[in-house]
Amino acid sequence: MAGEATLTNNDIDSDHQTQHNGSAERSTTHTGIKVLIVGAAFGGLCAAIECRRQGHDVEIYESFKELKVLGDIISFGANASRTFRRWFIPGTAERISDRLDPLSIKLQSYGFNIHKYDGELVMNQKSPPPDPEVPVFNGHRGEFHSVVYNYVRDDLHIPIHLGCRISKYFETESGAGIFLDSGEKVTADVVIGADGDPETRRFCENGDTFNGWIGPDVRFLFSTIKNGSDCCWVLTHVDDADIEESWSFPGKLEDVYKVFEGWDQLCKRIVSKTPEDKLVDWKLVYRDPLPKWVSDGG
Ligand SMILES: Cc1cc2nc3c(=O)[nH]c(=O)nc-3n(C[C@H](O)[C@H](O)[C@H](O)COP(=O)(O)OP(=O)(O)OC[C@H]3O[C@@H](n4cnc5c(N)ncnc54)[C@H](O)[C@@H]3O)c2cc1C
Repeated sequence: MAGEATLTNNDIDSDHQTQHNGSAERSTTHTGIKVLIVGAAFGGLCAAIECRRQGHDVEIYESFKELKVLGDIISFGANASRTFRRWFIPGTAERISDRLDPLSIKLQSYGFNIHKYDGELVMNQKSPPPDPEVPVFNGHRGEFHSVVYNYVRDDLHIPIHLGCRISKYFETESGAGIFLDSGEKVTADVVIGADGDPETRRFCENGDTFNGWIGPDVRFLFSTIKNGSDCCWVLTHVDDADIEESWSFPGKLEDVYKVFEGWDQLCKRIVSKTPEDKLVDWKLVYRDPLPKWVSDGG
Protein backbone atom coordinates (compact mmCIF):
# COMPACT_ATOMS: atom_id res chain seq x y z
CA MET A 1 0.00 0.00 0.00
CA ALA A 2 1.92 3.00 -1.17
CA GLY A 3 -0.41 5.94 -1.26
CA GLU A 4 2.47 8.38 -1.39
CA ALA A 5 3.34 7.95 -5.03
CA THR A 6 1.35 11.01 -5.79
CA LEU A 7 2.04 13.11 -8.79
CA THR A 8 2.60 16.74 -8.21
CA ASN A 9 -0.40 18.91 -8.33
CA ASN A 10 1.02 20.65 -11.35
CA ASP A 11 0.68 17.53 -13.39
CA ILE A 12 -2.97 17.35 -14.11
CA ASP A 13 -5.39 19.70 -15.71
CA SER A 14 -8.31 21.00 -13.74
CA ASP A 15 -11.46 22.65 -14.97
CA HIS A 16 -10.60 26.02 -13.50
CA GLN A 17 -7.07 26.36 -14.68
CA THR A 18 -5.35 27.74 -17.69
CA GLN A 19 -3.11 25.72 -19.93
CA HIS A 20 0.36 27.03 -20.72
CA ASN A 21 2.20 24.97 -23.32
CA GLY A 22 0.52 21.92 -21.98
CA SER A 23 1.59 22.33 -18.39
CA ALA A 24 -1.27 22.67 -16.02
CA GLU A 25 -1.54 24.46 -12.73
CA ARG A 26 -3.98 22.99 -10.40
CA SER A 27 -5.97 24.65 -7.72
CA THR A 28 -6.50 21.65 -5.47
CA THR A 29 -3.89 20.58 -2.94
CA HIS A 30 -2.96 17.20 -1.57
CA THR A 31 -5.82 16.26 0.73
CA GLY A 32 -4.30 13.24 2.47
CA ILE A 33 -7.55 11.40 1.81
CA LYS A 34 -6.89 7.80 0.85
CA VAL A 35 -9.24 6.27 -1.71
CA LEU A 36 -9.42 2.61 -2.73
CA ILE A 37 -11.12 1.77 -6.00
CA VAL A 38 -12.27 -1.73 -6.86
CA GLY A 39 -12.31 -2.37 -10.61
CA ALA A 40 -9.98 -1.15 -13.35
CA ALA A 41 -12.50 -0.85 -16.15
CA PHE A 42 -13.80 2.52 -17.39
CA GLY A 43 -15.70 3.31 -14.19
CA GLY A 44 -12.80 2.63 -11.84
CA LEU A 45 -10.15 4.21 -14.02
CA CYS A 46 -12.13 7.39 -14.56
CA ALA A 47 -12.93 7.62 -10.84
CA ALA A 48 -9.20 7.24 -10.13
CA ILE A 49 -8.31 10.05 -12.53
CA GLU A 50 -10.81 12.42 -10.92
CA CYS A 51 -9.75 11.46 -7.38
CA ARG A 52 -6.16 12.24 -8.30
CA ARG A 53 -7.22 15.56 -9.80
CA GLN A 54 -8.88 16.39 -6.52
CA GLY A 55 -5.64 15.71 -4.66
CA HIS A 56 -6.47 12.35 -3.08
CA ASP A 57 -4.16 9.34 -2.73
CA VAL A 58 -5.72 6.64 -4.83
CA GLU A 59 -5.05 2.96 -5.53
CA ILE A 60 -6.96 0.48 -7.68
CA TYR A 61 -7.64 -3.21 -7.01
CA GLU A 62 -8.66 -5.40 -9.94
CA SER A 63 -9.42 -9.10 -10.21
CA PHE A 64 -8.08 -9.68 -13.71
CA LYS A 65 -4.46 -10.78 -13.77
CA GLU A 66 -3.37 -8.98 -16.91
CA LEU A 67 -4.79 -6.37 -19.23
CA LYS A 68 -6.40 -7.95 -22.28
CA VAL A 69 -7.95 -6.17 -25.24
CA LEU A 70 -11.53 -7.35 -24.69
CA GLY A 71 -14.93 -6.39 -26.03
CA ASP A 72 -16.40 -5.25 -29.29
CA ILE A 73 -17.66 -1.76 -30.08
CA ILE A 74 -18.32 0.84 -27.43
CA SER A 75 -19.54 4.39 -27.95
CA PHE A 76 -18.72 7.47 -25.91
CA GLY A 77 -21.12 10.28 -26.65
CA ALA A 78 -20.61 13.99 -26.10
CA ASN A 79 -20.89 14.04 -22.30
CA ALA A 80 -18.22 11.40 -21.79
CA SER A 81 -15.97 12.62 -24.56
CA ARG A 82 -15.93 16.16 -23.15
CA THR A 83 -14.49 14.66 -20.00
CA PHE A 84 -11.80 12.79 -21.91
CA ARG A 85 -10.94 16.10 -23.57
CA ARG A 86 -10.33 17.71 -20.19
CA TRP A 87 -7.69 15.19 -19.16
CA PHE A 88 -4.15 15.98 -20.24
CA ILE A 89 -0.99 13.89 -20.35
CA PRO A 90 1.04 15.46 -17.51
CA GLY A 91 3.48 18.07 -18.68
CA THR A 92 2.19 18.10 -22.23
CA ALA A 93 -0.58 19.64 -24.30
CA GLU A 94 -1.77 16.15 -25.31
CA ARG A 95 -5.21 15.07 -24.15
CA ILE A 96 -6.52 11.53 -23.64
CA SER A 97 -9.01 12.35 -26.38
CA ASP A 98 -6.06 12.80 -28.78
CA ARG A 99 -5.20 9.16 -28.15
CA LEU A 100 -8.77 7.91 -28.48
CA ASP A 101 -9.54 9.78 -31.66
CA PRO A 102 -7.21 7.85 -34.05
CA LEU A 103 -8.79 4.60 -32.81
CA SER A 104 -12.29 5.84 -33.47
CA ILE A 105 -14.49 4.89 -36.41
CA LYS A 106 -15.11 7.81 -38.77
CA LEU A 107 -18.39 7.36 -40.62
CA GLN A 108 -18.99 10.84 -42.02
CA SER A 109 -18.54 9.58 -45.58
CA TYR A 110 -19.62 5.93 -45.38
CA GLY A 111 -22.39 6.25 -42.80
CA PHE A 112 -24.18 3.34 -41.14
CA ASN A 113 -25.88 0.91 -43.53
CA ILE A 114 -28.91 -0.76 -41.95
CA HIS A 115 -30.09 -3.88 -43.76
CA LYS A 116 -33.05 -6.18 -43.42
CA TYR A 117 -31.93 -9.67 -42.54
CA ASP A 118 -32.34 -10.81 -46.16
CA GLY A 119 -29.81 -8.22 -47.31
CA GLU A 120 -32.11 -5.41 -48.48
CA LEU A 121 -30.59 -2.02 -47.61
CA VAL A 122 -33.17 -0.17 -45.50
CA MET A 123 -31.30 3.07 -44.91
CA ASN A 124 -27.94 4.77 -44.77
CA GLN A 125 -27.47 6.98 -41.73
CA LYS A 126 -24.64 9.51 -42.02
CA SER A 127 -22.78 10.72 -38.95
CA PRO A 128 -22.97 14.47 -38.30
CA PRO A 129 -19.86 16.55 -39.12
CA PRO A 130 -17.24 16.23 -36.36
CA ASP A 131 -16.95 18.96 -33.73
CA PRO A 132 -13.39 19.09 -32.36
CA GLU A 133 -14.66 20.59 -29.09
CA VAL A 134 -17.08 17.72 -28.61
CA PRO A 135 -15.62 14.61 -30.16
CA VAL A 136 -17.59 11.37 -30.26
CA PHE A 137 -15.72 8.10 -29.91
CA ASN A 138 -16.98 4.83 -31.38
CA GLY A 139 -14.45 2.04 -31.51
CA HIS A 140 -13.05 -1.11 -30.03
CA ARG A 141 -13.82 -1.23 -26.34
CA GLY A 142 -10.57 -3.05 -25.55
CA GLU A 143 -8.40 -0.51 -27.33
CA PHE A 144 -10.13 2.45 -25.70
CA HIS A 145 -9.80 0.71 -22.37
CA SER A 146 -6.05 0.22 -22.92
CA VAL A 147 -5.62 3.95 -23.61
CA VAL A 148 -7.31 4.94 -20.36
CA TYR A 149 -5.64 2.14 -18.39
CA ASN A 150 -2.18 3.06 -19.64
CA TYR A 151 -2.80 6.74 -18.88
CA VAL A 152 -3.70 5.90 -15.28
CA ARG A 153 -0.80 3.51 -14.79
CA ASP A 154 2.00 5.08 -16.83
CA ASP A 155 1.21 8.79 -16.96
CA LEU A 156 -0.43 9.34 -13.58
CA HIS A 157 1.47 6.52 -11.83
CA ILE A 158 -1.59 5.43 -9.92
CA PRO A 159 -0.94 1.97 -8.43
CA ILE A 160 -3.11 -0.74 -10.02
CA HIS A 161 -3.02 -4.04 -8.14
CA LEU A 162 -3.92 -6.82 -10.56
CA GLY A 163 -5.03 -10.34 -9.66
CA CYS A 164 -6.71 -9.02 -6.52
CA ARG A 165 -10.30 -10.14 -6.21
CA ILE A 166 -12.16 -8.31 -3.45
CA SER A 167 -14.36 -10.61 -1.43
CA LYS A 168 -15.76 -8.12 1.06
CA TYR A 169 -16.23 -4.41 1.66
CA PHE A 170 -16.52 -2.91 5.14
CA GLU A 171 -16.78 0.45 6.84
CA THR A 172 -16.21 1.75 10.36
CA GLU A 173 -16.96 5.06 12.13
CA SER A 174 -13.70 6.48 10.83
CA GLY A 175 -13.01 4.78 7.54
CA ALA A 176 -13.65 1.94 5.17
CA GLY A 177 -11.83 -0.92 3.54
CA ILE A 178 -11.74 -4.12 1.61
CA PHE A 179 -10.80 -7.75 2.09
CA LEU A 180 -8.97 -9.51 -0.72
CA ASP A 181 -9.64 -13.17 -1.54
CA SER A 182 -6.20 -13.84 -0.07
CA GLY A 183 -7.52 -12.61 3.30
CA GLU A 184 -5.46 -9.38 3.20
CA LYS A 185 -7.25 -6.40 4.66
CA VAL A 186 -6.72 -2.91 3.21
CA THR A 187 -8.10 0.22 4.85
CA ALA A 188 -8.71 3.72 3.55
CA ASP A 189 -10.87 6.78 4.09
CA VAL A 190 -13.08 6.03 1.13
CA VAL A 191 -13.79 2.93 -0.95
CA ILE A 192 -15.35 3.21 -4.40
CA GLY A 193 -16.90 0.02 -5.75
CA ALA A 194 -16.42 0.21 -9.51
CA ASP A 195 -16.65 -3.51 -9.92
CA GLY A 196 -19.40 -3.28 -12.48
CA ASP A 197 -22.37 -5.46 -12.33
CA PRO A 198 -23.11 -8.80 -13.98
CA GLU A 199 -25.79 -7.13 -16.09
CA THR A 200 -23.33 -4.68 -17.37
CA ARG A 201 -21.14 -7.47 -17.62
CA ARG A 202 -14.93 -6.00 -49.39
CA PHE A 203 -15.56 -3.67 -46.29
CA CYS A 204 -11.95 -3.23 -45.44
CA GLU A 205 -11.19 -1.65 -48.76
CA ASN A 206 -13.68 1.06 -47.91
CA GLY A 207 -11.78 2.08 -44.79
CA ASP A 208 -14.05 2.67 -41.81
CA THR A 209 -17.46 1.08 -42.30
CA PHE A 210 -20.44 0.20 -40.16
CA ASN A 211 -23.28 -2.14 -41.18
CA GLY A 212 -26.14 -3.63 -39.24
CA TRP A 213 -28.65 -6.36 -40.10
CA ILE A 214 -31.92 -6.67 -38.22
CA GLY A 215 -33.90 -9.92 -38.22
CA PRO A 216 -36.45 -11.69 -36.03
CA ASP A 217 -34.91 -11.80 -32.51
CA VAL A 218 -31.45 -11.26 -33.97
CA ARG A 219 -29.27 -8.20 -34.55
CA PHE A 220 -25.90 -8.34 -36.32
CA LEU A 221 -23.46 -5.41 -36.38
CA PHE A 222 -20.20 -5.37 -38.31
CA SER A 223 -17.60 -2.65 -38.42
CA THR A 224 -14.22 -2.10 -40.00
CA ILE A 225 -12.02 0.35 -38.13
CA LYS A 226 -8.65 2.08 -38.34
CA ASN A 227 -9.05 2.60 -42.06
CA GLY A 228 -10.07 -1.00 -42.62
CA SER A 229 -7.07 -2.66 -40.99
CA ASP A 230 -9.19 -4.16 -38.16
CA CYS A 231 -12.75 -5.37 -37.98
CA CYS A 232 -15.18 -6.65 -35.39
CA TRP A 233 -18.74 -7.92 -35.21
CA VAL A 234 -21.37 -8.57 -32.59
CA LEU A 235 -24.49 -10.70 -32.82
CA THR A 236 -27.30 -10.61 -30.30
CA HIS A 237 -29.73 -13.50 -30.30
CA VAL A 238 -32.20 -15.24 -28.03
CA ASP A 239 -30.40 -17.19 -25.30
CA ASP A 240 -32.16 -18.59 -22.25
CA ALA A 241 -29.03 -19.77 -20.42
CA ASP A 242 -28.19 -18.03 -17.10
CA ILE A 243 -24.78 -17.39 -15.53
CA GLU A 244 -23.34 -17.20 -12.05
CA GLU A 245 -19.83 -15.74 -11.97
CA SER A 246 -18.05 -15.77 -15.31
CA TRP A 247 -20.12 -14.32 -18.12
CA SER A 248 -18.04 -15.20 -21.11
CA PHE A 249 -17.47 -18.54 -22.82
CA PRO A 250 -15.67 -19.69 -25.95
CA GLY A 251 -18.00 -19.14 -28.92
CA LYS A 252 -18.58 -21.57 -31.78
CA LEU A 253 -18.90 -20.56 -35.43
CA GLU A 254 -21.36 -23.39 -36.10
CA ASP A 255 -23.78 -21.78 -33.59
CA VAL A 256 -23.49 -18.48 -35.45
CA TYR A 257 -24.13 -20.16 -38.79
CA LYS A 258 -27.37 -21.69 -37.42
CA VAL A 259 -28.63 -18.23 -36.51
CA PHE A 260 -27.85 -16.99 -40.04
CA GLU A 261 -30.02 -19.57 -41.85
CA GLY A 262 -32.12 -17.65 -44.41
CA TRP A 263 -30.03 -14.50 -43.94
CA ASP A 264 -28.01 -12.37 -46.32
CA GLN A 265 -25.12 -14.65 -47.40
CA LEU A 266 -22.73 -11.80 -46.70
CA CYS A 267 -23.25 -12.19 -42.95
CA LYS A 268 -21.98 -15.76 -42.97
CA ARG A 269 -19.08 -14.81 -45.22
CA ILE A 270 -18.05 -12.10 -42.78
CA VAL A 271 -18.13 -14.27 -39.67
CA SER A 272 -16.44 -17.19 -41.45
CA LYS A 273 -13.23 -15.12 -41.45
CA THR A 274 -13.22 -15.11 -37.64
CA PRO A 275 -10.50 -17.23 -35.99
CA GLU A 276 -12.63 -19.45 -33.72
CA ASP A 277 -10.27 -19.04 -30.76
CA LYS A 278 -11.07 -15.31 -30.83
CA LEU A 279 -14.82 -15.87 -30.72
CA VAL A 280 -16.43 -15.11 -27.37
CA ASP A 281 -19.97 -15.92 -26.26
CA TRP A 282 -20.93 -13.05 -23.90
CA LYS A 283 -24.00 -13.49 -21.79
CA LEU A 284 -26.29 -10.50 -21.42
CA VAL A 285 -28.47 -11.09 -18.40
CA TYR A 286 -30.80 -9.09 -16.20
CA ARG A 287 -30.03 -8.56 -12.52
CA ASP A 288 -31.95 -6.68 -9.87
CA PRO A 289 -30.65 -3.11 -9.60
CA LEU A 290 -28.63 -2.19 -6.51
CA PRO A 291 -31.00 -0.84 -3.81
CA LYS A 292 -28.61 2.08 -3.19
CA TRP A 293 -25.25 3.39 -4.43
CA VAL A 294 -23.78 4.75 -1.19
CA SER A 295 -22.91 2.76 1.95
CA ASP A 296 -24.68 3.33 5.33
CA GLY A 297 -21.75 5.44 6.49
CA GLY A 298 -22.01 7.65 3.42
C1 LIG B 1 -14.43 -7.51 -20.52
C2 LIG B 1 -15.53 -6.50 -20.84
C3 LIG B 1 -15.89 -6.29 -22.18
C4 LIG B 1 -16.90 -5.37 -22.48
N1 LIG B 1 -17.21 -5.14 -23.79
C5 LIG B 1 -18.09 -4.15 -24.12
C6 LIG B 1 -18.35 -3.79 -25.47
O1 LIG B 1 -17.77 -4.37 -26.37
N2 LIG B 1 -19.26 -2.81 -25.75
C7 LIG B 1 -19.90 -2.14 -24.75
O2 LIG B 1 -20.69 -1.23 -25.04
N3 LIG B 1 -19.68 -2.46 -23.45
C8 LIG B 1 -18.78 -3.43 -23.12
N4 LIG B 1 -18.54 -3.76 -21.81
C9 LIG B 1 -19.31 -3.05 -20.81
C10 LIG B 1 -18.80 -1.66 -20.56
O3 LIG B 1 -17.41 -1.52 -20.82
C11 LIG B 1 -19.09 -1.39 -19.08
O4 LIG B 1 -20.26 -1.97 -18.70
C12 LIG B 1 -19.26 0.04 -18.78
O5 LIG B 1 -18.20 0.76 -19.35
C13 LIG B 1 -19.30 0.21 -17.26
O6 LIG B 1 -17.98 0.09 -16.77
P1 LIG B 1 -17.65 -0.22 -15.27
O7 LIG B 1 -16.22 0.17 -15.07
O8 LIG B 1 -18.68 0.39 -14.38
O9 LIG B 1 -17.86 -1.79 -15.08
P2 LIG B 1 -17.24 -3.03 -15.83
O10 LIG B 1 -16.79 -2.69 -17.21
O11 LIG B 1 -18.19 -4.14 -15.65
O12 LIG B 1 -15.88 -3.35 -15.00
C14 LIG B 1 -15.84 -3.83 -13.69
C15 LIG B 1 -14.38 -4.19 -13.36
O13 LIG B 1 -14.33 -4.62 -12.01
C16 LIG B 1 -13.60 -5.83 -11.93
N5 LIG B 1 -14.15 -6.58 -10.81
C17 LIG B 1 -15.41 -7.12 -10.71
N6 LIG B 1 -15.57 -7.71 -9.52
C18 LIG B 1 -14.39 -7.55 -8.85
C19 LIG B 1 -13.94 -7.93 -7.56
N7 LIG B 1 -14.72 -8.61 -6.70
N8 LIG B 1 -12.69 -7.63 -7.17
C20 LIG B 1 -11.85 -6.92 -8.01
N9 LIG B 1 -12.24 -6.52 -9.24
C21 LIG B 1 -13.49 -6.82 -9.65
C22 LIG B 1 -13.85 -6.52 -13.28
O14 LIG B 1 -12.82 -7.44 -13.58
C23 LIG B 1 -13.86 -5.33 -14.24
O15 LIG B 1 -12.57 -5.02 -14.72
C24 LIG B 1 -17.56 -4.67 -21.45
C25 LIG B 1 -17.18 -4.89 -20.10
C26 LIG B 1 -16.18 -5.79 -19.81
C27 LIG B 1 -15.78 -6.01 -18.35
